[in-house]
Amino acid sequence: MKITSIRAYQVDLPIKAGAYKWADQSFAAFDSTVVVIDTDEGITGVGESCPLGPSYLPAYSEGVRTGVAVLGPDLIGEDPTLLDVINHRMDTLMKGHPYVKSAIDMACWDIAGKAAGVPVHTLLGGSFRDEVRLFRVINRGAPEEMVAELQQLRGEGYVQFQMKVGDDVDLDIQRIAAVCDELLPTETLAADANTSWKSHEAMRVVNSAAGRPLYIEQPCLSYEECLRVRRHTDLPMILDESMTSPDVVIRGAADGAMDLINLKINKAGGLTRSRQIRDLCVQLGIGMTIEDTWGGEIATSAIAHLAHSTPTGFHFQSSPFHEYNDVTIAEGGPMVADGHMRASDGPGLGVTPDFGVLGDPVLALN
Ligand code: MG
Repeated sequence: MKITSIRAYQVDLPIKAGAYKWADQSFAAFDSTVVVIDTDEGITGVGESCPLGPSYLPAYSEGVRTGVAVLGPDLIGEDPTLLDVINHRMDTLMKGHPYVKSAIDMACWDIAGKAAGVPVHTLLGGSFRDEVRLFRVINRGAPEEMVAELQQLRGEGYVQFQMKVGDDVDLDIQRIAAVCDELLPTETLAADANTSWKSHEAMRVVNSAAGRPLYIEQPCLSYEECLRVRRHTDLPMILDESMTSPDVVIRGAADGAMDLINLKINKAGGLTRSRQIRDLCVQLGIGMTIEDTWGGEIATSAIAHLAHSTPTGFHFQSSPFHEYNDVTIAEGGPMVADGHMRASDGPGLGVTPDFGVLGDPVLALN
């Protein structure tokens, strides 16, 4: 099988709730790129990469499209089902920029699944579960607003929550106390600072929350600062932004720096690289939140397939991004009910892009 054309589509994903707020950031919409790959055997694959704005990670939406335009011509004629070969080729052509490669790699997995007639989770090792446990984000806001949002999400069937903090440490301490007070013993809560605290601020937070049923997620910018905080607290620690590749996961495991990582598909560079990190975490005894930086039905399907195929005990939670958006960009996205989602059982990712929504391609290579 050979790649005959690569197209890219730009689509805005407006936030249903009006805005998504974390640390000192707030966005009303995210700019997503959908990549469609055609082959000489008539099988088409689809992938998606959606950075969380340009200031979250070293990634930006326009860069996805530019990167695909740079890589694409050299991928035409390659076999998309040879996933390690394709990824090696992309790494040879372009250093870094995992968020660019992610959408291409995801589309190749979709093609490989369709060619084999099986869902992507089968190719990723096989499904361990009928449904994937979800968490929902509680937007940064006043303590009473965050409590109200938890109550509303609880009413929708969710029992796992991630509260966004990180813009004001004194207020964060109040926010965490208020939300912890509201939490039921059957519920799980993480406070995610998204790198925003200095280590002295993080230490004040973990001191104030000692004994609370709370996970702390990526308190500070650097790995070393997070490690300093980790050595100061008994609260379970999730590392996210600083966990970008297998070597930092190995270092974190050796240092005892975290109990879990947040594995985001486009932060790792696609499903191929995410699978490597996932399998490494299983060997090292590290649990995982499995998600992406953002996306619609296509990226969320990839999340669901990776989560389905993650061994029992190692999948902590995933995020249903398509539920946050006010637009549907593909049919067949994961079904969400009672705080869980389920990937389509169709071949590949099981999604069909809605070209009425995506419009004309902004890039077409053949
Ligand atoms: Mg996080």
